Amino acid sequence: MPLPAKLLKRLQNAKPTVGISSCLWGNRVRYDGTDQTEPTIIEHFSEIVQWVALCPEVEIGLGVPRPRIDLFLKEGQLELRQDKTDRNLTQAMEDYSFKKGKELFARHRISGFLFKTKSPSCALTDGKYKMPGDRETVLQRGPGLFTKTILHIASKRSAMELPTLDEIGFRDPILRDTFFEKIVLYHDHYDTT
Ligand code: SF4
Repeated sequence: MPLPAKLLKRLQNAKPTVGISSCLWGNRVRYDGTDQTEPTIIEHFSEIVQWVALCPEVEIGLGVPRPRIDLFLKEGQLELRQDKTDRNLTQAMEDYSFKKGKELFARHRISGFLFKTKSPSCALTDGKYKMPGDRETVLQRGPGLFTKTILHIASKRSAMELPTLDEIGFRDPILRDTFFEKIVLYHDHYDTT
């Protein structure tokens, strides 16, 4: 479903930059070497939005394909681990996310982010926080570690909430329109901050 004409015009004028999980953009960067392309993104929105695609797991050097990683909730703190190699990736992911997050706002002036569901790095709301030592038991759900850091940086830089959505929400035309409306407002807000 196309965007409302008025919103479309505002987006064409602004051409805001929006971050996106690289696998949604169509890059084959998932742990099993596949992508998770959302055709609507590529087909309908590349004319009006400048997408910045990135894969945090590849960027911290995990490679493709790679053993799966999981988020564990340990004494109230999140721990990102790759069980197969017994690597604790928490610090590496936090360091990368902090550095990249600052760059996304300062250099790219991102006005929103489209995240991949269920990922321990990129989930917006439904990342699985598992019981330490037990990958089957989910204690809680929440943002992935990369997302959490991006949202934290956004909250420090502006009182205005960074527009975010995941690909499930993006398929809903009402949520999608609202996402883009907020993106235009956030984009305009850069000039006043
Ligand atoms: S969800 Fe995020 S970390 Fe996982 S493959 Fe996609 S971009 Fe990479």
